[in-house]
Amino acid sequence: MKAWIDIYIGLGSNLDQPLDHVEQAFSTLAQHKHLRNARISPLYQSKPVGPQDQPDFINAVAHAQTQLGPHDVLDLLQSIEQQHGRKRLRHWGERSLDCDLLLYGNANIHTPRLTVPHAHMHERSFVLYPLADLVPQLCFDNGLDFSRFLSRVPFDLEPVKKGI
Ligand code: AMP
Repeated sequence: MKAWIDIYIGLGSNLDQPLDHVEQAFSTLAQHKHLRNARISPLYQSKPVGPQDQPDFINAVAHAQTQLGPHDVLDLLQSIEQQHGRKRLRHWGERSLDCDLLLYGNANIHTPRLTVPHAHMHERSFVLYPLADLVPQLCFDNGLDFSRFLSRVPFDLEPVKKGI
């Protein structure tokens, strides 16, 4: 029997009712036949990382378990982005939905399509704080000290909704 792997997914949106995009994306994940035990962190409002002349983002982190391989999870996330009419207008710019695979079990993955743990997750408040909501000890067996990352990143988020 295949093992169930814990995955963490970063969700973000700052276009066309961002809260709905994030909640619907989570609902798609929660109902997906290859995922189980899905949970979502509280939702936060955050300032954009890239160009500042764009709306604030709504962000959350989802956790689930899957038997899919990491690239199949990426395919799933990209198909959900497409369903949400994902437009990318400019680098680090506005988007209807962004889904990032943050962690896939304890794996370290470096392929042309996929870097896991996600390359920027250790420096982003809108990833680290919701991740800490889901996993308060921030203890993962992948050699990375996320609680140290968290202690270096100020809390600059606006809580907007409780998680599940
Ligand atoms: P973005 O939508 O700007 O987050 O970037 C999407 C691109 O990043 C896609 O081409 C993915 O193949 C690539 N990518 C690399 N690592 C990851 C990851 N951990 N999660 C999501 N996309 C990733």
